Amino acid sequence: MRYLLLVILLSPALAALWLWQQWPGAERVPAQYNPFAPVNVDDPLNALTTMKLKALGSDPERCAAALARARDAGAIDYATVGSPEIGQCQLENVVRVRSTSVAFSSSFLATCPMALAWTLYERHRLQPAAREIFDAPVSRVDHVGSFACRNVYGRESGRRSEHATAEALDVTGFRFADGSRARVIADWEDGGPRGEFLHRALSESCDTFGNALGPEYNAAHRDHFHLGMRGYGICR
Ligand SMILES: [Zn+2]
Repeated sequence: MRYLLLVILLSPALAALWLWQQWPGAERVPAQYNPFAPVNVDDPLNALTTMKLKALGSDPERCAAALARARDAGAIDYATVGSPEIGQCQLENVVRVRSTSVAFSSSFLATCPMALAWTLYERHRLQPAAREIFDAPVSRVDHVGSFACRNVYGRESGRRSEHATAEALDVTGFRFADGSRARVIADWEDGGPRGEFLHRALSESCDTFGNALGPEYNAAHRDHFHLGMRGYGICR
């Protein structure tokens, strides 16, 4: 809600910026502060990041180009899947993520914006936290899936889960290059480095994801983090 207000207040400034950026020879605003510049995995994250990722949801070509650039930079390996209908669920512009700077317990389907959101999160938040806390990068992420053709848990009719469109990943734990592990179910309450890492991993995920739910949200999330694309910065 606060972001919506921000967008409304900033609209005239955005329009002026857009016009300026169309002017031939105009000095360009650094990409991370220019809402119209393409998403680049090396750009620092800021308040525009989630907005830009969302906008890519309605611009498949631009998103595919950004993801291809991320692959060229060695940040992600994936296979393009397209827009299949699986069960009763229509997927839009999904890829199968095979690996990033980490291995995954299994490859997973992700919309193009979510694949980018993960890549940015990992590069700018997850790996720096791991190096600070464990002095070793995350080497593997354990998860229990991204796509499931179903409604939000506890609702028999109505709202489709973000998992029905492959717009959320359920992460259960992390393994580090030094052999350490941090598991949501076992280590969330841990007072040492594992707990510290998990709390940081969840709270900072909202710098690229729209919402992140963990053990303190409800009992259904006691063993995993739900990292999803809907919303703006709701992490709990
Ligand atoms: Zn979930």
